[in-house]
Amino acid sequence: MARLSPALKQATPVLAKRGEGVYLYDAEDRRYLDFTAGIGVTSTGHCHPKVVAAAQRQVGTLIHGQYTTVMHEPLLRLTDKLGEVLPEGLDSIFYMNSGSEAVEASVRLARHATGRPGVISFTGGFHGRSMGAAALTTSGAKIRAGLGPLMPGVSVAPFPYAFRYGWTVPQAVEFALRELDYLLVTGAPAADTAAFIVEPVLGEGGYVPTPPEFLAGLRERADRHGILLIADEVQTGVGRTGRFWGHQHAPGVTPDILVTAKGIASGFPISAIAAPEELMAKAWPGSQGGTYGGNAVACAAAIATLDVVREEKLVDNAAEQGVRLLEGLRKVAADHPGIADVRGLGLMVGNEFRTADGGPDTATASAAHAAAAQRGLLLLTCGAFGNVVRMIPPLVVNSAQIDDGVALWADAVASVIG
Ligand code: PMP
Repeated sequence: MARLSPALKQATPVLAKRGEGVYLYDAEDRRYLDFTAGIGVTSTGHCHPKVVAAAQRQVGTLIHGQYTTVMHEPLLRLTDKLGEVLPEGLDSIFYMNSGSEAVEASVRLARHATGRPGVISFTGGFHGRSMGAAALTTSGAKIRAGLGPLMPGVSVAPFPYAFRYGWTVPQAVEFALRELDYLLVTGAPAADTAAFIVEPVLGEGGYVPTPPEFLAGLRERADRHGILLIADEVQTGVGRTGRFWGHQHAPGVTPDILVTAKGIASGFPISAIAAPEELMAKAWPGSQGGTYGGNAVACAAAIATLDVVREEKLVDNAAEQGVRLLEGLRKVAADHPGIADVRGLGLMVGNEFRTADGGPDTATASAAHAAAAQRGLLLLTCGAFGNVVRMIPPLVVNSAQIDDGVALWADAVASVIG
């Protein structure tokens, strides 16, 4: 008899049988308010009827039109559709299956295009678990420990996590940019650096919005030194932060390469990188590809997802419901000093737990997370110490569901803190 590997760690004990909108149901038909959205994936909610219909239609037409062998229509249509929402100039797209693969494709492109080996990522960043992506990832030791030696050429510069440093955001930004400048003239010479890779909201590392001034500082340095700016929008893309792309919170900043996955197809595995065509043309011929990339059913689901996001104005909804969620959670935190910071952008909100002496309070965060699940509210933790409880509802969430989630959270927190 075979069993699942014990390496698989599951955040909740739920055995999900079906999903509908913001809810998951277990085998006994118990309903859970799903504020995990499959780690920010089910943007249109579970089994949105239009996504289901598009995928079902495609399954009966063509499942796999392997894209280095033949071309298929859903891939071409999705490319047109993405062209409508991508920042101006990012007009060339390449598809893969997962976020990690797309991150690695962005690095491959950056190295080919610049002829330089170096990549700079930022402390707490998460870019994936495959060997190259793990080399860029510092959100927690578990992703790297025991795995090395990892891909060489990676340097890590400080991320402006103001709350952790106990500074104001401008102080943290000034520090992080100063240290980056120092790195570029010491350990990671600018002339050897192909790219900066950054998340518009630090995700697995603790749900910390990246200050717009920091992104602007990266853009300016990238231009000055001929370095490419890669925005890892795997978690922040497709409306999650209340703008279509997370980097759009930084006015005037456009990345050279944008990486997207997760929310783009409501749960079907597909990822992509987008870049200006003249940059993409610098990828060595045949260097990008894969058996399943741009799967026809995933493309059909992605097209339907983009339609639903537009028709149901889900980007605006994420912005509006995000404010409601943040305000509700801040009220809960006001009664519990252990919830030391509540922050976020759109429907990407984190609650950071601290002990009385200011250290990370992993135990209480984990107990509150478990108490929420017992009450039918599914959440996730994040942060290097697992002391941030994060909420990522589907973009279709409404005000009543946000209020339900906040009430369940308040009850869960009260049950563990008292
Ligand atoms: N980048 C970011 C910002 C992510 O949040 C994730 C997944 N959490 C990844 C990359 C990796 O994506 P995947 O798990 O699909 O490989």
